[in-house]
Amino acid sequence: MVDQSSYDILFEPVQIGPVTARNRFYQVPHATNLGYLFPKAAAGYRGMRAEGGWGVVSTGACDIHYTSDHMHHPYERLWDDSDIAVQAEMVEKVHAHGALAACELNHSGINSMPFYNRTPTLGPSWLRNQTGDMPMLSRGMDKQDIRAFRGWHRDAAMRAKKAGFDIVYVYVAHGAQVTRSFLMRDFNDRTDEYGGSLVNRMRLLNELLIDTKEAVGDTCAVALRYSVHDQDVTEKLEEYRGEAMEVVERLAELPDLWDVNLSWPADAPTSRFEPEGFQEPFVSFVKKVTSKPVVGVGRFTSPDTMVSMIRRGVLDLIGAARPSIADPFLPNKVKEGRIEEIRECIGCNACLGSVVAAGPIQCTQNPTAGEEWRRGWHPEKIAPRASSARVLVVGSGPAGLECAAALGRRGYEVALAEKDRELGGRVTQESRLPGLAAWARVRDYRLQILSSLANVEIFRESELQPQDVLDLGYEHVVVATGSEWRRDGIGGMARRGIPGLESAMRYTPDDVIKGADLPSPVLIYDDDHHYMANVMAELTVRQGKEVIFTTPLETVSSWSRYTCDQPAVIGSMLKWGIIPRVGMKLERVENSTAAFRRAYEDKPQLVEFGSILLVTAKLPRDQLYSGLCASEFRDHGVASLTRIGDCLAPGLIATAVFSGHEFARNFEAPEQDIPFARER
Ligand code: ADP
Ligand code: SF4
Repeated sequence: MVDQSSYDILFEPVQIGPVTARNRFYQVPHATNLGYLFPKAAAGYRGMRAEGGWGVVSTGACDIHYTSDHMHHPYERLWDDSDIAVQAEMVEKVHAHGALAACELNHSGINSMPFYNRTPTLGPSWLRNQTGDMPMLSRGMDKQDIRAFRGWHRDAAMRAKKAGFDIVYVYVAHGAQVTRSFLMRDFNDRTDEYGGSLVNRMRLLNELLIDTKEAVGDTCAVALRYSVHDQDVTEKLEEYRGEAMEVVERLAELPDLWDVNLSWPADAPTSRFEPEGFQEPFVSFVKKVTSKPVVGVGRFTSPDTMVSMIRRGVLDLIGAARPSIADPFLPNKVKEGRIEEIRECIGCNACLGSVVAAGPIQCTQNPTAGEEWRRGWHPEKIAPRASSARVLVVGSGPAGLECAAALGRRGYEVALAEKDRELGGRVTQESRLPGLAAWARVRDYRLQILSSLANVEIFRESELQPQDVLDLGYEHVVVATGSEWRRDGIGGMARRGIPGLESAMRYTPDDVIKGADLPSPVLIYDDDHHYMANVMAELTVRQGKEVIFTTPLETVSSWSRYTCDQPAVIGSMLKWGIIPRVGMKLERVENSTAAFRRAYEDKPQLVEFGSILLVTAKLPRDQLYSGLCASEFRDHGVASLTRIGDCLAPGLIATAVFSGHEFARNFEAPEQDIPFARER
């Protein structure tokens, strides 16, 4: 039995400069890609976190000037006074629920991509733009530029104050701003008073903090967001760590709040690679150096861990990006003793995947993320049923579970049929693979809801055929029977089946999950480019088998560039002794020989293997759906037949959850030509 009073400490107010946060729950700045393109959606998104009980709710990066160009990643903007009203709308939504509103002022400098403004990027020195492979140099800033930059920052801070923000950030984290590139030896080779020694490299940061305090510090707290670790620096990490500590020591009492973290991509690793609270060893020194409050992150979803962070003096405020995306109501659930109702982040980084690939935010666990304004979806509320219709949902993967739970919450009478004894479909199966245990949270959160709904009945070990469905007599049938990995080699690069596969010992991840014993060496062919091939490689190595890892692309697990764990993915393979063979397009197979073609090579490369494991693409498991379509289902009283999730189009777990949720929300609602409101 949990002692609820042990969580009281999380609800103590915290003084931050001239303002007071009502509790220790702090939604740190994070990108949503709603920003300047979808400001109403952005305000709706942030307001929902305030409603859910967060003490502080922040914008994502808010550009101070047009020379910070993020056309393709819509950040917030305070370029001039005409942007104030937009930001004020977000502040109003946050204040309406009693939270403080924070604004993360940003100028991305050499991390900008100047497609929109057609103005050279700004940096301390003439350096390559840091946006991947962009073949441009930044413009080394002269003294006049520095003066102008300080002016832009000060003006933006005053605009933030006018918009009503309570906390204004100086942002020097994630390797992404003018100020940070001045600070870091790697980027700064100036010979004037802004380059050379640490004191000189810190000069601009110091000036910005003083400027901001002077400009807005009477009513706004000034926060410093600072990465205390950056694995991308070329200097020795220990030296960098030493320098980072010195920065904190030198500035210790200047900001009203320290928001500390790690640089990208280490700041938000997937749960495969880092556990909850993983930043503690890096950030714990900060509180020993300053008397100001400290906020830090670490994918915190457990209130016990949060309490421990406070009690042990690691942090004063529990920072969260992903846990707040997954559950905007996490603080209120803790407060009300509804711990088991927390929709825990699974650390899959589908949120980052969408944002980094330039889409609006989405979340595997929370299908309402980003939909608060445009679809009017509330994470905790859903319209009551419109009739006494009865619904049969077939398949209990993420799509079926979400659909049944959401329909159940609406009050519909629902039957959920699952062919297996275990519920959860792919998330249950994949959660047994190395590093993916957290996937089970997708199932467990929904089972917890279902357990409280007397109007949803679950039938396990019930593999339904079309006739069974017709005999059951439900008026509405939702088919969520999932998908299976292809065996023909068709995938991202191969549009046609690969000849000769039938002559080989060939397998798919479905076979491996069922426990197939693959003859070694196992040739893994990854034409899927997400996590599964990599996870299969780890599992195979753990089984003591040799792995030959091939992919037709020039890089490994290319989608993990977006989910920000590609370095960890590649690092893990090297650790297991696998040297990935990239740019290898599988052409044909004959028994135990695979012929690959590399671009610009005439001769195929032949690879001998014991078995081939195809991780290429999935196909819907839609026999039930097509069988029902072929029947006269309407004559049997079935008014609607719908397929959702992977059975409709295999994809991310997030897509399946969304599909199930969308069906339930729209069920018996008036049809709309465009299912969401638009901002123009
Ligand atoms: P999704 O991601 O779309 O939810 P999954 O593959 O995770 O898909 O889950 C599909 C679920 O449907 C699996 O648990 C599978 O056992 C179940 N299933 C498939 N066919 C049937 C059927 N004919 N009757 C009942 N359950 C089925
Ligand atoms: Fe967490 Fe995944 Fe949701 Fe991101 S998408 S918040 S990592 S559950």
